[in-house]
Amino acid sequence: MPHVITQSCCSDGSCVYSCPVNCIHPSPDEADFARAEMLYIDPVACVDCGACVSACPVGAILPDSRLTPEQLPFAAINADHYPPRPDGVKVPPTSKLAPVLPAPRLRGRDLRVAIVGSGPAGMYAADELLTQSGVRVNVFDKLPTPYGLVRAGVAPDHQSTKSITRLFDRISAARGFTYYLNAEVGHHLSHDDLLEHHHAVVYAVGAPGDRRLDIDGMGLPGSGSATETVAWINGHPDFADQPADLSHERAVIVGNGNVALDVARILTSDPETLAVTDISDAALRELRNSAVREVVVAARRDPADSAFTLPELLGLVAHAEVVLDTEDHALVRRDLGTAGDAGTIAKLEILAALPDSATESTRPRIRLAYRLTPQRILGGARVNGVEFTRTGSGETSTVDAGLVLSSIGYRGAPIAGLPFDDAAAVVPNRAGSVVNPVTGRPVTGAYVAGWIKRGPTGFIGTNKSCAMQTVSTLVDDFNAGLLRDPAARPAALARLVRSRAPGVVDAAGWRAIDAAEVRRGAASGRPRVKFTSVPEMLAAADSARPARRFSGPSRRTGA
Ligand code: NAP
Repeated sequence: MPHVITQSCCSDGSCVYSCPVNCIHPSPDEADFARAEMLYIDPVACVDCGACVSACPVGAILPDSRLTPEQLPFAAINADHYPPRPDGVKVPPTSKLAPVLPAPRLRGRDLRVAIVGSGPAGMYAADELLTQSGVRVNVFDKLPTPYGLVRAGVAPDHQSTKSITRLFDRISAARGFTYYLNAEVGHHLSHDDLLEHHHAVVYAVGAPGDRRLDIDGMGLPGSGSATETVAWINGHPDFADQPADLSHERAVIVGNGNVALDVARILTSDPETLAVTDISDAALRELRNSAVREVVVAARRDPADSAFTLPELLGLVAHAEVVLDTEDHALVRRDLGTAGDAGTIAKLEILAALPDSATESTRPRIRLAYRLTPQRILGGARVNGVEFTRTGSGETSTVDAGLVLSSIGYRGAPIAGLPFDDAAAVVPNRAGSVVNPVTGRPVTGAYVAGWIKRGPTGFIGTNKSCAMQTVSTLVDDFNAGLLRDPAARPAALARLVRSRAPGVVDAAGWRAIDAAEVRRGAASGRPRVKFTSVPEMLAAADSARPARRFSGPSRRTGA
């Protein structure tokens, strides 16, 4: 009864290191780790010990006997990652464990690090730093709530993925960890302020914007971006008042990555299945009144080039009605004749089995469409369609739609005081150490992790190895005496932050917000009902600590 990794695999690799027989690959040290769409268990080598189940932070691993019908394909997907071989032959060799990336060894004590951003990259960086004693980590976030895209970017029907917050809760409870939430670096505090109080600052700020589709008509009412729509669906306070207009029968999403699939799935789901999630109440109301019957996910390239991953495609077809036009079916058959790698073939086989769009649909559906290069958004007072050219030919076509969302990737934003590579939209860095692109020299004390370091790719857990590399660089620099000692004493930081950001929220404040949201959800069987405005969040934080919202670092840290 081997174990199987399923759709919500976050690729953080914890399972790899828990496995006593090294049967989970690619491991973070292997070349294909960065490109892999998930991790895979070799069913021949698995000894069924279940250690990986306990290690997985998102509940993605199950014994094969407990797979649901929709998870069954993952048994073959795991097995197909490994080469065929005679019965009983174990590949790779089971004699040694996966090589663990060496943990940074701190020489000396009292390393103080500020981490800006409390999403996955920031939390994994904190976790890695706090494996050493004598380290203090202060985590800043501009919102009163932590966890970045896990809270505001993961689709609400992916609650298993969101369960990674339990790991982040454990990290934030560690000795030496302090939250400064609702305190914005770049507004309340500058980079230099942070360096007065820390040896180093790690920016784990993600990619807060989205790549803009630069065609005529973007900006008309009825046009927008999928990333903003996801933030609205998730109740992010900056997007709570920007509802998508769902009063038309068709929506078009340009781009076919996993974000496009998330939005298409939510827009076509039965709202009652979403009503048991942590979706924002406002989004749920709009979805209940939605007129949308079809979401067209328009890719500019071929089926074999689809940007969505195989696990997400499998999850999509299990829950949604997904169709293809006849000419796109022909493209799929053509690509199946030439595709080489197993993952692409598996995706194409799923696409080939989808019904034709001419089939009558009984519920809102998703049409995956190919070779459509967007030319302009059509409409006057508001959007009424998109003009495409058939990629590779001059032939134009129009798709009528009342809502057009671009979903062509997130985009990093410059950070005050640091260099920025505008083309790649990342902060230039060497293994996480920020580098001045003109001189090629490191910017002392400045580090990056996550999407602002490597661009908006990968999964939540990809940030673990990314953050580990940054922390390793930082600790090496500290050990080598390259970081300046902070001028201020540790206790001065809390005073400074309180004076600059009087609304700062600490761990107790966040726990009060969290508990209040969970209570709001309990009555209706939901994991939580989120507060979608900062004042509501602060009121909940205050209810726990009416006298002061920020109590400073825990006494245990001695700071
Ligand atoms: P993405 O995977 O990079 O996909 C971007 C899409 O936009 C591609 O289809 C791309 O097509 C298209 N595109 C780019 N420029 C375009 C243009 N000018 N005109 C038309 N199409 C254009 O981005 P994403 O969907 O935002 O996802 C970001 C990352 O988050 C990915 O690593 C993704 O896997 C991850 N994510 C994962 C999950 C999950 O695991 N559940 C959920 C959400 C996001 P080309 O290929 O032709 O360039």
